[in-house]
Amino acid sequence: MKKFDLKTPYFMIDEASLIRNLEIAKHLKELSGVKLVLALKCFSTWGVFDIIKPYLDGTTSSGPYEVKLGHETFGGETHAYSVGYSEDDVKEVADICDKMIFNSQSQLMAYRHLIEGKASIGLRLNPGVSYAGQDLANPARKFSRLGVQADNIDESVFDSIDGVMFHMNCENKDVDSFVHLLDAISERFGAYLDKLDWVSLGGGVFFTWPGYDVEKLAIALKTFSEKHCVQLYLEPGEAIITKTTDLVVTVVDIVENEMRTAIVDSATEAHRLDTLIYNEPASVFEASGNGEYEYVIGSCSCLAGDQFCVAKFDKPLEIGQKLHILDSAGYTMVKLNWFNGLKMPSVYCQRKNGDVQKLNEFGYQDFKRSLSLWSVH
Ligand SMILES: *Cc1c(COP(=O)(O)O)cnc(C)c1O
Repeated sequence: MKKFDLKTPYFMIDEASLIRNLEIAKHLKELSGVKLVLALKCFSTWGVFDIIKPYLDGTTSSGPYEVKLGHETFGGETHAYSVGYSEDDVKEVADICDKMIFNSQSQLMAYRHLIEGKASIGLRLNPGVSYAGQDLANPARKFSRLGVQADNIDESVFDSIDGVMFHMNCENKDVDSFVHLLDAISERFGAYLDKLDWVSLGGGVFFTWPGYDVEKLAIALKTFSEKHCVQLYLEPGEAIITKTTDLVVTVVDIVENEMRTAIVDSATEAHRLDTLIYNEPASVFEASGNGEYEYVIGSCSCLAGDQFCVAKFDKPLEIGQKLHILDSAGYTMVKLNWFNGLKMPSVYCQRKNGDVQKLNEFGYQDFKRSLSLWSVH
């Protein structure tokens, strides 16, 4: 398959970029002894899991279907976590997970009998401190429901669980701030941790960011795990998949209303939702910081404010031209929806040897089926 033949919109996952991130992950594991489980809620395009598997230890999940997918398509260790399990959920995943992490003491009490003897049992604790750019994504925000607050812990619980999970970072590129959080956890919860086999420190540690001091992180993790005699885990999502994937779109129209807008055959609301939710403009590969032709890169959805970004180009854009929206894998491909009945992007992987392989494509029937299977009668 040749890249220039492909119909937009599509995602192109680049194997070489993925391996670059995975090599850093491997280095971190070797230096620190930490185990790494991929957070499927960030990225679950299982068609490329054969590339990722050799580097990581397994998967972690946020809901029952992710547990099943991790078990089926990734293997290794399957961690099951959910903010709210139903009894059916617990029964469904009990036999396929290696670790079950409950979000509250009440869920632990209610369902532990369904897990005992089958999987290692854990509890999420809320350290009350965090690193997150936006309140919406801050696990330590006021009234947070994520994990047990320190003041509410019933200490006897640590005699009957195997591990705990803390997740308190979001895109943390600053190793020193992570080490601070680690120190705070060691101080506040250390006596409890000494009784456990494992501690997961969650995701959001951006150790693949350019310039990130991986050695410093590794030393801090190793010191912590030796001090408390626990196997440490991290649950990276974005760090594994960052800067690996373009969303490729075509300019279908150019309109002008004080500013020029290039309308492309995709929409943030349907295909790149976090651009909208977190108000974080996308970057376009073809743009140049100081070009003299400025455009809004506008979506083809009907939502008035739906745009990818404002970008400058060296040459005027032309209808029919392809644009590459950079870094479009994490929290993106898992959130695709059919808003406006837009064409769903296909998914491709460019292998190291240059081959392009198709992983998925969608049609009108997929859209129709997502709405109803049949009509009332
Ligand atoms: C979201 C989440 C992750 C993954 O976070 P990234 O920022 O993608 O690394 C890991 N663990 C838990 C519990 C999460 O909620």
